[in-house]
Amino acid sequence: MPTKTLASACTLDCPDTCSLDVEVTENKITRIGASDVNPITQGFICTKVSRFAERVYSPDRLLYPMKRVGEKGAGKFTRISWDEAVGTICERFKEIKDEWGGEAILPYSYGGSNALLGQDTSDRAFFAKLGASRLARTVCAAPTSEAAQGMYGKMPGTAFEDYVHAKFILIWGANPKASNIHLVPYLKKARAAGAKIAVVDPKLNFSEKEIDLHLPVYPGTDVVVALALIHHWQKKGWLNWDFLGEHTKNVDVLLKKARQYPPEKAAEIAGVEAEDIKKLAEMYALHDPAVLRCGWGLERNRNGGQSVAAVLALPAVLGKFGLQGSGYTLSNSNAHKVDSRGLTDPISWNTRIINMNKLGKVLLEENDPPIKGLFNYNCNPVATVPNQKAIIAGLQREDLFTVVSEQVMTDTARFADILLPAVTFLEQKEIKKAYGSYTLHYLDPVIEPLGEAKPNEEVFALLGRSMGWQDQAFFDDTEAYLQRVTRSTHGMGKPVQLDQLKKEKIAFFDFPGRAPVQFQNIFPWTPDGKINFAPGNLGKNPYEYLDLKRNGYPLTLISPATDKLISSTLGEFNFPKLFLVMNPGDARARSLEKGATARIFNDLGEVFAPVQLSRKIRPGVVLIPKGAWRKSSKNGLTSTALVPDDVSSVGGGACFNDARVEVAVA
Ligand code: SF4
Repeated sequence: MPTKTLASACTLDCPDTCSLDVEVTENKITRIGASDVNPITQGFICTKVSRFAERVYSPDRLLYPMKRVGEKGAGKFTRISWDEAVGTICERFKEIKDEWGGEAILPYSYGGSNALLGQDTSDRAFFAKLGASRLARTVCAAPTSEAAQGMYGKMPGTAFEDYVHAKFILIWGANPKASNIHLVPYLKKARAAGAKIAVVDPKLNFSEKEIDLHLPVYPGTDVVVALALIHHWQKKGWLNWDFLGEHTKNVDVLLKKARQYPPEKAAEIAGVEAEDIKKLAEMYALHDPAVLRCGWGLERNRNGGQSVAAVLALPAVLGKFGLQGSGYTLSNSNAHKVDSRGLTDPISWNTRIINMNKLGKVLLEENDPPIKGLFNYNCNPVATVPNQKAIIAGLQREDLFTVVSEQVMTDTARFADILLPAVTFLEQKEIKKAYGSYTLHYLDPVIEPLGEAKPNEEVFALLGRSMGWQDQAFFDDTEAYLQRVTRSTHGMGKPVQLDQLKKEKIAFFDFPGRAPVQFQNIFPWTPDGKINFAPGNLGKNPYEYLDLKRNGYPLTLISPATDKLISSTLGEFNFPKLFLVMNPGDARARSLEKGATARIFNDLGEVFAPVQLSRKIRPGVVLIPKGAWRKSSKNGLTSTALVPDDVSSVGGGACFNDARVEVAVA
């Protein structure tokens, strides 16, 4: 049988949303590569997704519904039919609802790596109808989202391809080499054309030749460094008062706070050189166009929202907008507007809201009502959510009925009572909205679903019908959901045409033109069109700095993304061995040598991992990569076992980088 090349697009949690060419021989994927449908893909994709067929055909792939036959968490299951699985889930959920009320059931999901049909369609209708507890999906991007919404109304950001026009690029709390790789060629081009590049991050992810300045700030102190830049600009008289007067409000709140942080004071708090803060301030102020790439690293602590707000204020106080290659980029997820009300039936759902970062505590502590039923889908909390030991203990509860819908046997799936096999993005029809590039993608399946795997919209419709509910949401098929999604989605006020999207596989914006230029063809989407430096959702003190030192543990653990995993996806094969990265000085002080097994510990737990030494990580900070699976670790615990489940005051976000630890020879 000849090999076919079929069009697809990557739905994984990555800003780039590459278009793909997938080679298929005899209904088997033989190669996944780049296509030129999305110009940002630029003829290459990451090695992660080029190896995605290893997940599709993994020995750990879930192919049929199963029920638990062994101890909770032992991963022992036996095959059952879809009828039995659906019947059991409905029966158990009805029993729980009758005895404890609907709120005793918790749907648990996060939308990073799925597309528009996979979340908030029939699943929402199902849990609303049940009267289940609602979930605040805040494990990532909640503080950044609040800051961007309050200050700019989530205005579309500078397109990556326009970075080539910049003369100065500031990358703050982002690692494009791991999770936004298509920005990297544009950075190189800009630099070849003379642009200066500065990076603010506790760990340097570039070579020294690739950038001009690195500020290795201590995690959680970004807010004071950003305020110190503004302080310096105030002192130099470099604030753009014309721009501030015309396009912003509440700048006094910001400037008053910035006056408290001269560079010397901020340098002491952040553990960097005051001269470097001034150098950064001057690079930014004296180059035009200048662009800011703000990432998500700076939000992952209790000062997260305040830090993002102060960093997003930087281009505004200088008026660094209006030119190609100026402005800022954060998430462009709001550019294609999706009216979620159109995705499913209008079933009211006003139950209690549970922050997903508190899963362990919610499962273990007394609640009224307690959680007795858990439905986990699009998510692997054992590997990705703070307070891992509490989550594991909670999932071990014999009185907790747990359903997991998954592609492979994850660390969370092992705790299921009923396991449902889910399709991968290569086996389904979907519509994916990019959050980096300005594109909307249509996906056809490139292969038939493996085994009896099903897409989410079908699973929850099946469950709803089995409950005996007559709502249309449970009778619509995938095609009807594609219609719902396209009817509910608008790009720059234009409706999306499903037929055209199916034919062309991609829809672009017209700003006019394919790229927005902030304050030229796009302005803040706030109610009055102005940048608001003190929006209500940032609280009374939007730039307040909280000293995060605690517990007497001297080191801060960070857990950033790597080039191996997307959150925890692909952890079944692509991250076999956990490791700890530390500065040689910190290692020497603890008699730890390269390759030695370290014990990383705090009050929450301990993790054992071999040591890697790097001068690129600042002293006082150690790193264990994000998303690794339990099997990668010597004692079955990973970075999240050391992360407290505190949440940020803005957005209720996870505080991964608030973990304070000590490291010793194991
Ligand atoms: S993960 Fe990112 S870089 Fe990799 S294929 Fe998907 S969109 Fe492209």
